[in-house]
Amino acid sequence: METAEESPHQSIDVLFLGAGLWSCLMACKLLEAQPHLRITVLEQSEDPSAHRRTWSFHQSDLDVNQLPPEWMDEFKPLKWPGYQINFPARKRRLSIGYRMISSDSFYQKARKLLGNNLITNAAVSEVSENRVLLKSGKSYHAPLILDGRGLSNHSYPRGYQKFLGLQIKVKERHNQQEPILMDVTVPQHDGFRFVYTLPLDDKRLLVEDTYYANGPELDMKTLQQGIEAYCHRQGWQDFEIEDQESGVLPIPLWSKDSWLKETAIEGQSLTHVPIGMRAGMFHPTTGYSIVAAMTSAYWLTQQDFSEPQAVAVALRRRQQEMWEKGAYYRRLNNMLFLAGDASTRYQVLQKFYGHPVDFIGRFYGQRLKWFDKLMMLTGKPPVPLLAGLAAFFSPMREAYELPSIK
Ligand SMILES: Cc1cc2nc3c(=O)[nH]c(=O)nc-3n(C[C@H](O)[C@H](O)[C@H](O)COP(=O)(O)OP(=O)(O)OC[C@H]3O[C@@H](n4cnc5c(N)ncnc54)[C@H](O)[C@@H]3O)c2cc1C
Repeated sequence: METAEESPHQSIDVLFLGAGLWSCLMACKLLEAQPHLRITVLEQSEDPSAHRRTWSFHQSDLDVNQLPPEWMDEFKPLKWPGYQINFPARKRRLSIGYRMISSDSFYQKARKLLGNNLITNAAVSEVSENRVLLKSGKSYHAPLILDGRGLSNHSYPRGYQKFLGLQIKVKERHNQQEPILMDVTVPQHDGFRFVYTLPLDDKRLLVEDTYYANGPELDMKTLQQGIEAYCHRQGWQDFEIEDQESGVLPIPLWSKDSWLKETAIEGQSLTHVPIGMRAGMFHPTTGYSIVAAMTSAYWLTQQDFSEPQAVAVALRRRQQEMWEKGAYYRRLNNMLFLAGDASTRYQVLQKFYGHPVDFIGRFYGQRLKWFDKLMMLTGKPPVPLLAGLAAFFSPMREAYELPSIK
């Protein structure tokens, strides 16, 4: 059932499809910045916050020239001044601020800001020039349609970052002050494996078993047992599981094709523009998109909506630039997934974390300079040299399937 406030014939300036991270963030920020705009968000589910997510990012990902540092504070991010990484041959604390916004606090605020502009139980079935048809038969019209319906079946060649995370509450204080971004002292299987731990408060932790794997399969039961065993090894003997989250994020390989090719087909109309995961607007190495969502939402608030077509054209150009900027990272993904044995993949990251902290900040912020790019490819290679170079320079074919590994 659609909500009572819905009126298919009301005038709308910007229509967002899907109430995921991108649509909601853009719609909220646009309403705050340009309150005269009539904005509607259509979401298929009853409750877009039903699937829990924790959205993390490095503070240094944000270019202060692009985005005021406090811009996301209304969504109540947790903040830590640094984090730890633990590899078999490298332990290090990095003084890079780390941030996390939980989907609970995000949607709590988003619901308030969006009010009746958010329409749930509204599954979109067709989109054509300026018109959206719902499965219920109702239709909406708008001069600009931003399509944030998430990732659909997409055949672009990829590896995966996949994980199960448990939120645990320990009986006594856990005394962990900062995140452990990667604990790689765990047995390696199914590709590059690490445990990621975020201290949420004195007694709560999010503990995620994560894999850079060739395939998307997640064996939840085995993963849960593995996380519980890890918690016990950390000395957290007495805990209860309060919540959990899981994800399978695409890690695109380098190909001559573009992610945008497929979404461009369905988005032929000039004013129907895909956004977010659907448009390949995410970090090629982590699969994360919150930083791209923030900077793109900020950019959107600066646009003049009296000419919706011009906004659509500028947004498509922005997507194209973002995708092209990711090419070097996708080539590195080829090296990670295709060169060397999967069980030694962790060595690539172990070498990476030996670099200066500024460089690491620039890497995650996608602001690498030419000498950074060169530095990453020099020194003692963590993968066999020839296989590494071949992987770096060979484009993948569309729908290329990585071989399965144990
Ligand atoms: C557990 C988990 C943890 C993550 N952690 C991080 C992190 O730490 N940092 C980070 O940056 N990223 C993280 N990510 C990735 C991040 O969540 C995605 O990049 C982001 O959600 C993509 O946003 P989106 O708006 O493009 O799509 P989504 O957030 O997937 O939203 C798509 C929305 O469209 C709706 N929809 C789909 N089809 C229709 C339809 N036909 N009609 C109407 N509505 C429809 C869906 O119901 C959904 O609400 C994580 C993902 C998961 C699953």
